[in-house]
Amino acid sequence: MRNKQVWRVSVSDCNVSFPLWTTLLLKFHPTMAAKKLYDSFSKSLIDEVHRWGAMKQNGVSLRYMMEFGSKFSERNLLLGAQFLHKELPIRIARRAIELESLPYGLSEKPAILKVRDWYLDSFRDLRSFPDIKDMNDEQDFTKMINLIKVRHNNVVPTMALGVQQLKKDLNPKLDYKDLDDIHQFLDRFYMSRIGIRMLIGQHVALHEPNPPPDRIGYIHAKMSPVEVAKNASEDARSVCLREYGSAPDVNVYGDPDFTFPYVPTHLHLMVFELVKNSLRAVEERFMDSDKLAPPIRIIVADGLEDVTIKVSDEGGGIARSGLPKIFTYLYSTAKNPLDERADLGTADIATMAGFGYGLPISRLYARYFGGDLQIISMEGYGTDAYLHLSRLGDSQEPLP
Ligand code: ADP
Ligand code: MG
Repeated sequence: MRNKQVWRVSVSDCNVSFPLWTTLLLKFHPTMAAKKLYDSFSKSLIDEVHRWGAMKQNGVSLRYMMEFGSKFSERNLLLGAQFLHKELPIRIARRAIELESLPYGLSEKPAILKVRDWYLDSFRDLRSFPDIKDMNDEQDFTKMINLIKVRHNNVVPTMALGVQQLKKDLNPKLDYKDLDDIHQFLDRFYMSRIGIRMLIGQHVALHEPNPPPDRIGYIHAKMSPVEVAKNASEDARSVCLREYGSAPDVNVYGDPDFTFPYVPTHLHLMVFELVKNSLRAVEERFMDSDKLAPPIRIIVADGLEDVTIKVSDEGGGIARSGLPKIFTYLYSTAKNPLDERADLGTADIATMAGFGYGLPISRLYARYFGGDLQIISMEGYGTDAYLHLSRLGDSQEPLP
């Protein structure tokens, strides 16, 4: 029963959908949300955050996680918990510190303060947990870190709201380039979050009593990229159908029997975002035309170093001048769904587009395990997205 739940939580990691309460909180209670926070944390806790934030983080690789998890034993669970007990406060403290010193007054935005509150609460939970000596401690610790993961579920939309608020305050003439420091901060912040959630999720999932064959926590030792790409495309098509009333075909080419070790939820999320972008581009280009919408083509190639997945569309491409913007967190050519949906009372809708988070977040997921994402466009024709996944799995987590 737990398996399903664990995987669900992980799919929502990207959270490119925005719950209603974040909108309401900011609309009606901006100051109230801000007030409560820092006062309630003691000076000694803040000092400890700074002490831990200065310690060295320790990255692990996909291969390491897999090897560690495949020798399943109580001893390994204990070692894993002890590692996390030391590692998580370091990573969390760094983010809490960085949240304090953002440019343009971003740190004072209610939504950002709320996120910092979550980080400080989690830091305190971890630091007040005594040393882990036996399997009883280990079980309590695992429950606790799982709750931390849940506490942070809505970090991405909440941060996005804070940034959006800031954008409204700023001089509208400010170019996306002027906000480069904010983009870099968000890249570091979300990358770190991916790592923290992977480590917690992996440890929790290793407690699964009867894992499906070849499953090692979040990792699938024999993941078929063709199969995952097909599922993600179907999910994207159903969002497209809901939004536009029709959806172009998506054809996936590649050997369905080819497998390699990877985290299926991460790949699903990346392909889902890329295919949504392609579907939208093709829909908007062919909506009012009597020509048949050309299918989106996904090609999966297995190289020695990389598995590369190309998502090709004939949606008209992106102007060369627009390309530098597409990986920023503030840029989208779609209407912001929050503006439209705030009063609908429908929370947590997976939307086609509009937050500008699909590409930057997908690239972080790719880079987390040593891969990358590139977008090549032919304006007037279409776009190719190249998603590179490292096949060896031996690159260390990037640790901002
Ligand atoms: P969103 O989809 O929410 O706008 P993304 O980060 O996924 O955010 O994409 C950012 C922008 O890049 C899109 O708004 C769109 O203008 C452009 N874009 C991305 N993929 C494509 C594509 N396949 N064809 C045309 N434009 C694209
Ligand atoms: Mg998108």
